Amino acid sequence: MRVLVVGSGPAGLAAAKTLALAGAEVTVVERQTMAGGVPRLCGHSPYGMREFHRIMGGAAYAERLSRQATQAGARILTRHAVTAIDDRVHLSTPDGPLTLTPDRILLATGAREASRAERLLPGERPQGILTTGALQDLWFARGITPFRRPVILGSELVAMSAILTCREAGARPVALVDSGPMIARAPFRWLPRVLGLPLHLGATIEDIIATDGQISRLVIRKGETLRDIACDGLILTGQFRPEAGLARMAGLLIDPATMGPVTDQHGRTSRPEIFAAGNLLRGIETAGHCWAEGRRIARAMLDDPAPSTLELRPGPGLRYVTPQRLGPDAVLNLRLDRAARGTLTLTDAKGRRLASLQTGSAPERRVTFDLRGVNLDGAHGPLTVTMEA
Ligand SMILES: Cc1cc2nc3c(=O)[nH]c(=O)nc-3n(C[C@H](O)[C@H](O)[C@H](O)COP(=O)(O)OP(=O)(O)OC[C@H]3O[C@@H](n4cnc5c(N)ncnc54)[C@H](O)[C@@H]3O)c2cc1C
Repeated sequence: MRVLVVGSGPAGLAAAKTLALAGAEVTVVERQTMAGGVPRLCGHSPYGMREFHRIMGGAAYAERLSRQATQAGARILTRHAVTAIDDRVHLSTPDGPLTLTPDRILLATGAREASRAERLLPGERPQGILTTGALQDLWFARGITPFRRPVILGSELVAMSAILTCREAGARPVALVDSGPMIARAPFRWLPRVLGLPLHLGATIEDIIATDGQISRLVIRKGETLRDIACDGLILTGQFRPEAGLARMAGLLIDPATMGPVTDQHGRTSRPEIFAAGNLLRGIETAGHCWAEGRRIARAMLDDPAPSTLELRPGPGLRYVTPQRLGPDAVLNLRLDRAARGTLTLTDAKGRRLASLQTGSAPERRVTFDLRGVNLDGAHGPLTVTMEA
């Protein structure tokens, strides 16, 4: 079997290793100059606990995953970007256009933070506004610090990554702003306070003001109070969304809730020869989670089970649920739309209760709903998962 893996992050590399060890002819293509995905540009830990039972920095972790995939027999081609998928795969490479016709494709193109436009931020459009991912690209890959006194927007875990990257790059954040409460969990949520970084929680950006084309001031609003913050940069953190442009172009069914491709529990998309794994499926999870997912879906590609067709939808109380197509022995990953404690229930279209789970969670935390052993015979689709608080 000839497999093309698109994307060399933890999901793609874990899948490549698994497939190559089983004898598949595996090519991994990566649009960047080095393999490793997001971790390659993360100067900080923690990576590798699940995979290698030790805490590693991102670059060392990415390098080890790449080495393992290569040693298993996978071929990794960097600076190879997939530009379209129809009945063939079209790539842009340093040697010009290339067309491939693999038997199977695994999309592992990851996720990215929402852009300024997607966040509908008001104000001017100066230089100095970028995401954590773009900042890390500038600093770790090219040694460039685009500002000295940025404001950090958002308080997900990745905001802590932005703070650490700034400090390494010689910049000192002047404030952290979030429209809601602090999202990152302890101990990470303590980092801003430990570093004396002023927090403006429950505050929104009212205006962005520029001087000579560079951001110079932010106006934030908390209730009726407006406040000016002098700064020379704005880091947009979190609000991850799948890098699903290629999936869309390949004609795959897209789930409006996750913004990633619809898959069954084996990672198979609406085109049976195309599978998907990692953050492309729903936005951000840890690298270890994506790595395990890549391995699991690679094994399914080798077993080649029939596509599952029973449709699953998120009901009241849920932001999303994956996978969106079910067969026997699935494990669901889902997120609630607000912090709640109660019962998750899986019902079919005739209102038959198939499974339930007592849980308590918040929107930024993954909930696992294990359906192994649940009898879905005779269930009428679409199935729905709801949270009753
Ligand atoms: C700033 C930041 C800090 C983080 N810190 C941690 C941490 O400390 N610990 C942790 O466990 N997790 C951390 N994470 C999360 C973790 O890095 C990700 O969950 C993980 O890298 C996702 O793996 P992935 O394989 O799905 O995708 P990615 O790692 O995003 O890799 C996707 C790859 O696909 C490539 N690609 C996309 N489109 C194409 C195309 N058309 N053609 C060719 N190649 C393509 C991209 O260039 C990229 O290399 C962090 C994430 C970010 C953004």
